[in-house]
Amino acid sequence: MATKRDYYKVLAIERNASVDDIKKAYRTLALKYHPDRNPDNKDAEASFREATEAYEVLSDTDKRKRYDQFGHEAAGMGGQHNHANMDDIFASFGDIFEGLFGGQPGGKRSAKKAGPTPQRGHDLAQKIEVSLKDAYLGCKKDLKVYHFQKCNLCRGTGAKEGSKPTTCATCHGKGAQLYRQGFFTLSQDCTACQGRGFMISNPCSECRGQTRTQQYEKLNVSIPAGIYENAELRIVGKGDAGIFNGEPGDLYLHVEVLRDRVFTRRDNDLITTMTLTYPQLVLGCQIEIANIDDSKETIKIPRGCPVGKEIILEGKGFARLRGGGRGNLVIITQCDIPAKLSDEAKTALLAYAEKLGNSSQQSEGGLSGFFKKFLG
Ligand SMILES: [Zn+2]
Ligand SMILES: [Zn+2]
Repeated sequence: MATKRDYYKVLAIERNASVDDIKKAYRTLALKYHPDRNPDNKDAEASFREATEAYEVLSDTDKRKRYDQFGHEAAGMGGQHNHANMDDIFASFGDIFEGLFGGQPGGKRSAKKAGPTPQRGHDLAQKIEVSLKDAYLGCKKDLKVYHFQKCNLCRGTGAKEGSKPTTCATCHGKGAQLYRQGFFTLSQDCTACQGRGFMISNPCSECRGQTRTQQYEKLNVSIPAGIYENAELRIVGKGDAGIFNGEPGDLYLHVEVLRDRVFTRRDNDLITTMTLTYPQLVLGCQIEIANIDDSKETIKIPRGCPVGKEIILEGKGFARLRGGGRGNLVIITQCDIPAKLSDEAKTALLAYAEKLGNSSQQSEGGLSGFFKKFLG
């Protein structure tokens, strides 16, 4: 499969382009590559589809946001074209083509003749909490979502078994009634069918003609390793069911990563601190530590190691969601200052201090002072 081009490049717009800019850019390209103007030109058709796909994503605030964050896959356009044929494209983007190719602005009304129009269900959003360890390893999570599901009894028709929706007799399925006012003919939603163009005289007892019912569903979702705070996961088809068997919406999971007692995250690095004794820092040592996934790592503290030094274990941090590879595990050294000492240890420490000499060296940019006495 060919690599996808950047959607902004496809439409030749800036990354901060406004909705109007996007619309304009797409209209221009659509005019240029439209199949009516380029009969039997496969390249033009491919360009037209490419521009349409870019427009579909960038003109939708949510999709655009996800595309900016995660690229083609996350915008839901990865892999395949969503539109099987050109007619689909015009059905989806009728508005933008209105008046361009002699399309009829009244077209939507006449479409109702065929009976109930399936409508896509709403997208839903929900938050999901993930521990830092689960974010590191990736995990499966059980969750409950309260959403519309297709009515099982009428299988999404809204009508009682054995009956079906009938065309509205008042408007003959148009959904609109015309009336004259002076010289003008005006149109308004049909009052008999509320503009729907059909009637359900025998509604389903389960959904009362709504074609779907609201209920809890248990889901088990996969959280990819490396997921981070405020990331958004899209669960396809788990939003609200569509009306009259329309396509379901999607469920967006907003990720919240819980604090960990030992580890934190910085970009793709996993950060922790390690408290060492003064002799361990001065003499250097080897220490075994447990990573967040409980795997053991041996780290080397160099001789004369300062407090606050970052010991880096490459490739032991978080998996990168984009671009592959991993961040690092970073261990920051701390010095353990005992609040209480045994008499023996105190004597040894005072002797040590004497050997070292009592004048502390000034580091550049630090305070200076004169040593007076130990507090004992
Ligand atoms: Zn009607
Ligand atoms: Zn039903």
